[in-house]
Amino acid sequence: MKGTILVIEDNEKNLYLVTFILEKSGYQVVQARDGQTGIRLAREVNPDLVLLDIQLPVMGGYAVAREITKDSGLRGTPIVAVTSYAMHGDRERVLAAGCKGYIEKPINPVTFVAEIEQYLLAGKKGNALKSEP
Ligand code: MN
Repeated sequence: MKGTILVIEDNEKNLYLVTFILEKSGYQVVQARDGQTGIRLAREVNPDLVLLDIQLPVMGGYAVAREITKDSGLRGTPIVAVTSYAMHGDRERVLAAGCKGYIEKPINPVTFVAEIEQYLLAGKKGNALKSEP
């Protein structure tokens, strides 16, 4: 098991695809279909990375990102936003909300895991690996 990834995504097809790709690559996936559940599970499982859909009902992705980054127990947990918005200023908004980066939908199954792993290496686990002698 290479690490635990919390996927917060309300679209079943996207959730299925992302889970399938990550599990096939050796990651444990924890699923949340709304923001409140995502925040609760982040605190419970302390994932190595959070993959966060920005377009979520009720509690939007930006609010979820701010809530997770505020939590001292989750400091250093990278959040990667996933959004189909290709609007100018989106990247800035995503970073301002505390996300480490941004992946555009539809995700590319060929490059997706490599993109995620860049952020994983910059997160808690990556830092721990780097500090090992
Ligand atoms: Mn969505």
